Amino acid sequence: MRDADPTMDSPAASIPNPLCEIGRTHPRDKHRMRPLDGFPGVWVCAKHGLYATVLPEDEVKAIERGDPFPMHDGSAGVAGRTGDDRPGGVVFYYRAAG
Ligand SMILES: [Zn+2]
Repeated sequence: MRDADPTMDSPAASIPNPLCEIGRTHPRDKHRMRPLDGFPGVWVCAKHGLYATVLPEDEVKAIERGDPFPMHDGSAGVAGRTGDDRPGGVVFYYRAAG
């Protein structure tokens, strides 16, 4: 068995931005999210007010859709769906509460 993969060195820039959660459920409105300035690892869809990040699968399993979810900037958010598998976990969508 070999275990010599330098996973710390994965070029995140080569991974495409995730599809917006709306685009996943409405095939006629498919569009990708954009990296959020100042928050590495966070994407945003300004049109729909949605955010996404990658979380470990175990963490995502413990979160129900609609649960309170602290946002990247510390404000209150609401958990959404999950998306594609990514290195280190799965894409997880959330939006601001209220
Ligand atoms: Zn969108």
